[in-house]
Amino acid sequence: MLLLPFTGLLLSGLAYASSGNVSASLTQTGLLTTSSGTLQVPNGASCACAKLSRLIPGTVILPGSSNYTTQTVDTYWDIRANLSPACVVVPHSVTEVSQALKIISACGSQFAVRGGGHMNYPGSNNIDAGVLIAMSNLNSVNVKNDSVEVGPGLNWYQVYSALEPYGRVCIGGRMKTIGVPGLTLIGGFHYFNNKYGYAMDNVINYELVLGNGTQISVTKDSHADLFWALKGGANNFGIVTKFELKTYAMPKVSTTIQVFNETHIPQYLSAICEAAKLDVKHPIAAGMIATVSYNATTKVAQGSLLGVQEGASKPPSQFSNFTKIPATMRINNVTSMENWAKTLDSPKQMMRVQFSHRTMKPDAKVLYTIYQAWKAAVDKIADVQGLYPTFVTNVISPSSVRVAKTNGVGNVWGLEEEPLIIWQFSTGWALAQDDIRMEAWSRQLTEHLHGINKELGISSEFVYMGDAGEWQDPYLGFPTENVARLRKIRSAYDPAGVFSTLSWGGFKLGL
Ligand SMILES: Cc1cc2nc3c(=O)[nH]c(=O)nc-3n(C[C@H](O)[C@H](O)[C@H](O)COP(=O)(O)OP(=O)(O)OC[C@H]3O[C@@H](n4cnc5c(N)ncnc54)[C@H](O)[C@@H]3O)c2cc1C
Repeated sequence: MLLLPFTGLLLSGLAYASSGNVSASLTQTGLLTTSSGTLQVPNGASCACAKLSRLIPGTVILPGSSNYTTQTVDTYWDIRANLSPACVVVPHSVTEVSQALKIISACGSQFAVRGGGHMNYPGSNNIDAGVLIAMSNLNSVNVKNDSVEVGPGLNWYQVYSALEPYGRVCIGGRMKTIGVPGLTLIGGFHYFNNKYGYAMDNVINYELVLGNGTQISVTKDSHADLFWALKGGANNFGIVTKFELKTYAMPKVSTTIQVFNETHIPQYLSAICEAAKLDVKHPIAAGMIATVSYNATTKVAQGSLLGVQEGASKPPSQFSNFTKIPATMRINNVTSMENWAKTLDSPKQMMRVQFSHRTMKPDAKVLYTIYQAWKAAVDKIADVQGLYPTFVTNVISPSSVRVAKTNGVGNVWGLEEEPLIIWQFSTGWALAQDDIRMEAWSRQLTEHLHGINKELGISSEFVYMGDAGEWQDPYLGFPTENVARLRKIRSAYDPAGVFSTLSWGGFKLGL
């Protein structure tokens, strides 16, 4: 198990007190009592929970039962996302997903859907006093010759483990416990984007249940419009019950873990910019997790690189820009994707977390000023209990975008083949009383620095749903014609608006 300081996200064993809906119970009069207050269950949800219990026996979990906490708390990464549904339905089959959606929409009940539970804000994947549909039981894996069928109840480590005996990998998440469905529906940053595109670009078939309960198979040839829309269009169209993903032969990967002290952060950020700019016709698949952590008490900052490259190369050649920087730690290895992913845990119920980010053209000097501004701003909130601030960067290389440009399908991002850097503040803290302060701090800082980048002419409006805060609207960063097309497709497949008026959480297209 890797521990700090390798990445700001690896806090194994650290968990703060949850916001507390553990002891929820439902009264005869429809009052849902939780340890944080009493909720009135609306008629729609009461109707849905009663019918679900009667018509799909064995799938419904009610407040007060032992599995309720497992489903509504233990499966969430951000403690803020713990909520208290009126009931949880955990379908065992596509048919049960379809039945559940029919019942929920006939009752007019509000609902939320959860896969791996990593989207980090309240309501994106859970609901108070409505119905939670949890995908945990749809967890089958079927490895085919050059693809793999995966259920939405799986995390990426389970998928990589299933592929391991075949010496193959797929394009999914970089860390162990991130869920398959959420990541695949919003894009999917993986180590190998530069060669194979994003997770969404690698899906060849979606099994989908629409708002009216109809089950369809969505491929390039059937429902081509919806096939495109699901490539980045999030949870606006239905519930995916199976993804079929391309796989690639890759029995070995080369890895590098490097840690840099504060003196070398300018070179570290410069190497990240160079990685974004790298643009060759036949790239070697390679990518990273790059995180700076900062301790506002000790005033110590350090940058970390977790790099992975296809094939055996020790040290991995594609990280030479980092390898030439003096490091306080450098470990190179040749291993398998499963072994690597195994070490990168992001424990559930880790802390309260706010994500915020913006995107820019790679400019190492400006990126360094953003880093410095972030550190100075962290000092101003040093009194926040359990403060855990990290500065995370993700790269979008031209070759990663080219995959969708040339595969005859595209994706909803509609990016140009130009290098971009996503700079993100991922900030953890302990107490609910600091929620408003932390959201405001993160939002205001991000927008101030983005405003400067706009003036410098190096900003991009692209916002990635996986790194965004709840205050951000990723659709504003997509080409307007793509958003219009998404809305048209949504109207065609969900004319009753089940996924827009009964389910509000996550990144929605809006009414
Ligand atoms: C620690 C950490 C590391 C991360 N690392 C990466 C990374 O390496 N690469 C990357 O791209 N992103 C990363 N992310 C972001 C991540 O991709 C998103 O949080 C993603 O939503 C997680 O997927 P999930 O299934 O766990 O999400 P959930 O929280 O379960 O769901 C996310 C959204 O998808 C919807 N949804 C879930 N299942 C379905 C379904 N079957 N059908 C329709 N809608 C559904 C939910 O309603 C919700 O709105 C990371 C996030 C965290 C917290």
